[in-house]
Amino acid sequence: MSDDIKKAPRYLIRFHGRGGQGAVTAAQLCAMAFNGPATCMPTFGAERMGSPVASFVKLSKDFEKVRTNEQVYSPQYVAVLDDTLLSDVDCTAGMVPGGYLVINTCRPIEEVREIISKNNPPAINIALIDATNIALEYLGRNITNTLILGALLKVAPELFTIEQLSDAIADQFNPKIAQKNMDAIKVVPDATTVYPADGDVKISYETDYKKQWSHVKPDLIGVKEWDLAGVWYVDKVDGGSKRVNTGAWGVSVAQYHPEYCIQCGNCVFVCPDFCILREEVDGKWQVVGVDEFHCKGCGNCVAVCPGKKDKETGEKHKALTMVMKC
Ligand code: SF4
Ligand code: SF4
Repeated sequence: MSDDIKKAPRYLIRFHGRGGQGAVTAAQLCAMAFNGPATCMPTFGAERMGSPVASFVKLSKDFEKVRTNEQVYSPQYVAVLDDTLLSDVDCTAGMVPGGYLVINTCRPIEEVREIISKNNPPAINIALIDATNIALEYLGRNITNTLILGALLKVAPELFTIEQLSDAIADQFNPKIAQKNMDAIKVVPDATTVYPADGDVKISYETDYKKQWSHVKPDLIGVKEWDLAGVWYVDKVDGGSKRVNTGAWGVSVAQYHPEYCIQCGNCVFVCPDFCILREEVDGKWQVVGVDEFHCKGCGNCVAVCPGKKDKETGEKHKALTMVMKC
């Protein structure tokens, strides 16, 4: 092995997303786009859409530096696909001083700094991108995984070029979807704003910042969010999904209109997140509303809702409709 390869840096990246947002695919695309040895792996809590998930990538020209089969505990780069995760998970855990935290958000930097300051991060650079709006415009849905990679391009051009990322996207998706994603990532670097860390802090790619045994200490990544992501619909358990806003990343939410409901129960069976609320009325279980805290806006319930005719106008109305959140 040449001396140049031995001196090659090791890039460590962590993605935070919610189940269904494509954080795992983002890690795979990252590994595919890098011109050299790369490994990636995901970690899941309960397999439920909307639960916090993370994925990890190691990149280096030196294969020896990426072959360890463990999570990334001290990333130089962290990409967050959904800013509501900043409150649920410590997205800055283990970050290297001078590293970059890239967040899909439309919040101002002051608000983002205030949220993450609760976790006492080191001096890190922050890059903000409103990827959701770009995704809605170019892809027609709130899937931001390729766009967050476009933002990563801006802060870490050493990882891959836009052409390498485009090639990876073309390999991963069907041609039509790939083209939409490739068009979208072109506008991302200019739409990404970087807020430098206080002081002239340079990233070290050599120092090992990993805390010993951090993977078994409660409250650090790998333990805390698994606990939080569990599905608990039992009143006595103050944890699990009762506290995790798994519907936060949806851009729309289902609304219930009781006057048009015929109590067919179709919606109950198609909701992947048990969001159709029911109560026992006169000895029968009746649909009474939508659990908006967990509804992620998939629209399944609306698709199957037959609704009924309005008595006055004769028009048919569904008892469930979708409304945009903002
Ligand atoms: S849109 Fe309907 S089916 Fe989908 S999560 Fe919300 S309530 Fe459930
Ligand atoms: S599918 Fe529509 S009509 Fe049927 S129970 Fe659900 S809300 Fe009511």
